[in-house]
Amino acid sequence: MRIFDVECECGAEYRCAESESLSGEPGSFACTTCGRVVETWETASKRVYRCVLTPDRAYVRIPPPPAP
Ligand SMILES: [Zn+2]
Repeated sequence: MRIFDVECECGAEYRCAESESLSGEPGSFACTTCGRVVETWETASKRVYRCVLTPDRAYVRIPPPPAP
């Protein structure tokens, strides 16, 4: 199992888990937010993508709590 992160141009981030033991097929993954194709692969491996960061949450700044 190989795990890595991919980032779309729109700011969305996805974590991909690629299995070498399960058989899949070549394909592509499109961003669920903007529809861009983020990745394509030619290998017959099983891939699962999970959104870890959506663009509307990407740049939210949380102010630190005031010092005591
Ligand atoms: Zn996108």
